[in-house]
Amino acid sequence: MLLKNKRRYLPLIIGVLVLLYAAGCGSAAKRSAPAHEAAAAGEKHWGYTGDVGPDFWHTLSPDYALAKDGKAQSPINIVTGGLAETGGLSKPEFHYTGIPFKAENNGHTIALAPSGADNYIVLDAADYALQQLHFHAPSEHRINGELCAMEAHLVHKDAAGNLAVVGILIVPGAENETLKEAFSKLPKEVTHEEPVSLDAPIDLTALVPAGAGLYRYDGSLTTPPCTEGVKWSLADTALELSQEQIDAFTAVYSGNNRPVQNLYKRRVYITK
Ligand SMILES: [Zn+2]
Repeated sequence: MLLKNKRRYLPLIIGVLVLLYAAGCGSAAKRSAPAHEAAAAGEKHWGYTGDVGPDFWHTLSPDYALAKDGKAQSPINIVTGGLAETGGLSKPEFHYTGIPFKAENNGHTIALAPSGADNYIVLDAADYALQQLHFHAPSEHRINGELCAMEAHLVHKDAAGNLAVVGILIVPGAENETLKEAFSKLPKEVTHEEPVSLDAPIDLTALVPAGAGLYRYDGSLTTPPCTEGVKWSLADTALELSQEQIDAFTAVYSGNNRPVQNLYKRRVYITK
């Protein structure tokens, strides 16, 4: 009888064990990093949600202390009423030409990296060479409290290593020709050392809407280590991408936007 009972209950016991095991896998899978959040070499794992999200960046590494303690952090909400004109600051001069780019999925965004350093901007009488451009969805900066569908960041560096980022807000509209090939080949998985080469050269000139004014302020990187001393120029006119192009990006990254930060004593200027 006993043996018979054991046999009767054995499938039930195995079933319970399988269920327990499956539950363990599920919770373990939730805790481990999704492939798109995998940390790059030499940086602590960080992301946009949960205990590695923006509220916790400063806890992940002493190198990320500015994420909490900084007084000049980005992004910010820009209130357009009553902005100071220029403040003696100049509008960036864009020197972009058509050059080849490679698309890289770095685990936090998709970046387009130029070949060579012959694309640059002139800002406050210094040259800043284009390093890469990348995207956030939705936008990081807010204008009068409003987020846009996406935001592009064109990252530049001068000879001394100072950073100047040009931000372009993106809204749904007409298909964007400049980014057409790139957005049709966005790498879905982290590319590590094998970025996707794009066939056609890209001239970024058209990404800055003609006649746009630029909001200028002193801020930071919007990702760890949130380094300050970044000269920000954010176009006051949004760029259009088609909904299909926006969807192509958000299929890979959505919610990779840091919340807006306290302005503290900083001022925002508008340069036209
Ligand atoms: Zn960015």
